[in-house]
Amino acid sequence: MERTLVILKPGCLQRGLVGEVISRFEKRGLKLVAMKMVQLTDEILDVHYAHLKEKPFFPWLRDGMKAAPVILCCWEGYSAVQVVRDMAGATRASKAVPGTIRGDFSMSAQENIVHTSDSLENATIELDRFFVESDYCDYISPLDSYKYAPDEM
Ligand code: UDP
Ligand code: MG
Repeated sequence: MERTLVILKPGCLQRGLVGEVISRFEKRGLKLVAMKMVQLTDEILDVHYAHLKEKPFFPWLRDGMKAAPVILCCWEGYSAVQVVRDMAGATRASKAVPGTIRGDFSMSAQENIVHTSDSLENATIELDRFFVESDYCDYISPLDSYKYAPDEM
């Protein structure tokens, strides 16, 4: 099973959308295996968004991600990286398709509710950035056989 990182951004928390967004991942059938609330810092954001450091909007992005705490979640499931990415929708939320998280709850290219890992390789790197091994909870999901075929588990 794949694991992927979701960050519920400060705007998600402040707008009271945390439950709604988490509920979508739960209902889809993803398994929550780690979660914590933290205040992000410049140091970690410089690494997390290193691919955007030269962009003119980078200072705004960093300030937005520090404006309130975030909620870090690790979701597990079959093809979880792409499933979660598709559920988030387009980065530029004004173009995101209705039915996606961004398409339903956001208008902005910056204030777009969630971060989601964009590949399995980056998911592993990002999860290691925010979680240590003891943050992960190992528990049985008794309904897995109702969610998956044997070769998907
Ligand atoms: N971002 C922005 N303006 C842009 C592109 C991106 O403010 O034109 C912000 C936005 O918050 C986005 C984050 O930078 O979620 C990371 O950008 P990336 O291209 O990695 O998009 P994502 O993977 O979040 O869809
Ligand atoms: Mg990205």
